[in-house]
Amino acid sequence: MIKFENVHKHYGDFHVLNDINLEINKGEVVVIIGPSGSGKSTLLRCINRLETISEGLLEVNGVVVNDKKVNINEFRKNVGMVFQHFNLYPNKTVLENIMLAPVKVLNKSKEEAKKTAMYYLEKVGIPEKANSYPSQLSGGQQQRVAIARGLAMSPEIMLFDEPTSALDPEMIGEVLDVMKALAREGMTMVVVTHEMGFAREVADRIIFIDKGQILEDTDPTEFYNEPKDERARLFLSRIL
Ligand code: ADP
Ligand code: MG
Repeated sequence: MIKFENVHKHYGDFHVLNDINLEINKGEVVVIIGPSGSGKSTLLRCINRLETISEGLLEVNGVVVNDKKVNINEFRKNVGMVFQHFNLYPNKTVLENIMLAPVKVLNKSKEEAKKTAMYYLEKVGIPEKANSYPSQLSGGQQQRVAIARGLAMSPEIMLFDEPTSALDPEMIGEVLDVMKALAREGMTMVVVTHEMGFAREVADRIIFIDKGQILEDTDPTEFYNEPKDERARLFLSRIL
């Protein structure tokens, strides 16, 4: 589903991704972990071409992402993304937030988009918030709306960039539960998170990245019990 082959990326002189090789299969849940500034967000953003790579090959769902012929809007329909800060439109209701892209990008009728939006709102557990504005919701609820908004496009892949790190502790669980359910349904997911409980429960693999390089690509049990890489060990000793 996702394949990085010798991918490099520079920001000016700064080598942010250094020879990334990574394959993610359909239905896999991959957790990316690593120190702040190591390139996790950049890696994720390359997958839906919010960032372009400088060198190498990146294929997503059979599409060579950086090919100039790629229709970027068409391509992005298949890749949903959830950010740390939910990025909801403040002047639109929850329902309108979720309906927007299906109407604009998928050309769905308002009626159909509304039905889909309600379906996903039920799924993330807050159908009663349909007509509320984002500011009337807790952080955890806003993030669940953001997930519903992503799912309403029926993507094949969902990317999550630290989806719980801006939340108060008591709200982290409700967002992780939605993500766990999604994982169990077979969604292909790439998740940047330091939530070890989530990683242990649903991740098929853990990718540890430091200074733009993948230093470990292993299963969660092995990673948390005995990481092979010295920097991974040091990192874990600091966050656990
Ligand atoms: P992480 O998500 O692991 O914290 P990022 O991928 O956000 O790391 O950033 C990796 C490095 O690249 C950081 O040092 C950051 O300052 C730098 N960086 C990120 N985005 C840009 C940009 N648009 N221009 C220049 N440098 C950037
Ligand atoms: Mg980041």
